[in-house]
Amino acid sequence: MIHAEGTLLSVDVGSREATTEAIDDVLASFVGGRGVGTKLAHDRIPFDADPLGPANSLVFAAGPLQTSTMSYTGRLSCTGLSPLTDGLLSSNAGGFTSRPFYDTGHAAVEITGESDELVGLVVTDEGVEFEPVPDLEGATTGETTDHVEASTGLGEGHTAVVGPAGENEVRFAAVITSGSRAFGRGGLGAVLGAKNVKYLAFDGDSRPDVEGLDDETVREIHAEAAESNSPMKDAGTVSVSDYANAVGALPTRYFRELSYDEVDDIGSAAVIEHKYEKGTCSACAFACKLPTRDEESGLETEGPEYETMMSFGSNAAVDDFVAIMRSNELCDRYGL
Ligand code: SF4
Repeated sequence: MIHAEGTLLSVDVGSREATTEAIDDVLASFVGGRGVGTKLAHDRIPFDADPLGPANSLVFAAGPLQTSTMSYTGRLSCTGLSPLTDGLLSSNAGGFTSRPFYDTGHAAVEITGESDELVGLVVTDEGVEFEPVPDLEGATTGETTDHVEASTGLGEGHTAVVGPAGENEVRFAAVITSGSRAFGRGGLGAVLGAKNVKYLAFDGDSRPDVEGLDDETVREIHAEAAESNSPMKDAGTVSVSDYANAVGALPTRYFRELSYDEVDDIGSAAVIEHKYEKGTCSACAFACKLPTRDEESGLETEGPEYETMMSFGSNAAVDDFVAIMRSNELCDRYGL
């Protein structure tokens, strides 16, 4: 099996100690960042740990295809105990951070413990640097990302940050990466916030080689992504809304109904009307990310994605697409 290479870096943000260990058996036995992260989190986090306490960990891990130019591979997984469910949870985000993450030479990075002050961590192939950032208390995700760039020279494609929601341990807070992509499930932003970690930044020059990648397969998948006529390329994940509505699977009016008469106002057609360019993740020719703009107000955001459209739109009986865009932008800004 093709698998990631590299080590596990474990960082205790309480003691500020970092240790590196081989995890070859785990890498050879579990598939992708989610498999590796879940195995490590399962083995290393005490079963009864408080999700918002120092014994919980967040394990970031990427799959082996970070060394390739294959589409669909710009993904990073984050795994830990969820403050929403108390169970083990893995969330996955796109964007551009998986590549610099892998450049550190680590296949997985574990963040554990609890800092006694608000800090940022810069993880490279030369070690871990801690930056006390008391002035970032309450900062939005954008302000935090700007700070990281000014302080370290590393742009948003190197970062994973929390906003006020994570700091305040909101149980559905997200970790935001690459500016507006989210590790959105399960409240892992609250876990990072509870550790008093405001940001992580990754960089290096030690991306491990991975054996067994077939260049022809990489090219074929890349070409298929580029030439695909999928409706997702036009309207992103919101493109499923028309189908979901037609078959009675679009949550509406807080799940009391399963189709929404005003779906055309907030679904694919609305995204297509408001998008102003294409967005993507590392090396992905599919490019399903769609920045949108409301010309009248100047409001810009990315997407929204299907679940945002459904949650703020049909399920709340809101047929105002710009209001959904604004909700999406606020969630990105505050880290939800
Ligand atoms: S651009 Fe879309 S298809 Fe490509 S990796 Fe990102 S989310 Fe996936």
